[in-house]
Amino acid sequence: MHELSVTQELVQTVEKARLGAGEDLQVTIVNVKIGRLTTVVPEYMTFYFNMLTKEMPGLAGAALEIEIVPITAHCKSCDAEFTVDEPHFVCPACHGENCEITGGREMVVDSIEVAEVEALPDGPSSGDM
Ligand SMILES: [Zn+2]
Repeated sequence: MHELSVTQELVQTVEKARLGAGEDLQVTIVNVKIGRLTTVVPEYMTFYFNMLTKEMPGLAGAALEIEIVPITAHCKSCDAEFTVDEPHFVCPACHGENCEITGGREMVVDSIEVAEVEALPDGPSSGDM
């Protein structure tokens, strides 16, 4: 159960990016890529994301889109690159077991989609009839 801390980090990253782009921006969609080896459960992450952002102006209501990145490995014997489904694997090219995992641990914010918040009028203009 490390989704909460992972999601907190994600929210901080997104908020930093949003503030860097302009405080008036409303985040609508956050696209993240998560390696399968992180064992993050997307449903939990979405749950925590909604929980953490619902009070944050500029982030409330944003949708989290999660793409799971497959585990990739590299065979040291024959130099093949391949994707795997299980933590234990053999190289499909030479059937060797001298392989190292090269991908599947990442968690990156791929892109953030924003909308500009409509500027509110400065208040009722009164008194100059
Ligand atoms: Zn091989």
